[in-house]
Amino acid sequence: MADCIFCQIIDGKIPSQKVYEDADVLAFNDIHAQAPVHVLVIPKKHIASAQELGEKDGALLGKIFTVIKRVAEEKGLAEKGYRIVNNCGEDGGQTVHHIHFHLLGGRQLTWPPG
Ligand code: C5P
Repeated sequence: MADCIFCQIIDGKIPSQKVYEDADVLAFNDIHAQAPVHVLVIPKKHIASAQELGEKDGALLGKIFTVIKRVAEEKGLAEKGYRIVNNCGEDGGQTVHHIHFHLLGGRQLTWPPG
């Protein structure tokens, strides 16, 4: 989508610090990191939010979670753990309407979120 900031990152029109890329999935550092490791993992296909997902996206979600695990291992998070976050919609705090999973780690994270 032309006006989607993450589609523009996928297309290379907006720069990003990529940490993983394949034909279907991109992972890059969040520009406003909330933890020592804060990576966004996104599908290249434009899906607005978790609310748009269906059974047809099962294989893609499997790939995304495999990438999350791989990046977590590469960043040294596997032993102590990490958090995967998806904000969905206005009350969920979603600000970019291209589905993305935050991978956060490298410090003790607290609960509940704000
Ligand atoms: O879940 P939410 O939609 O709020 O998260 C969007 C995230 O995208 C934010 O953490 C923001 O810092 C990040 N972002 C980015 N690069 C951009 C625009 C937004 O990393 N160019």
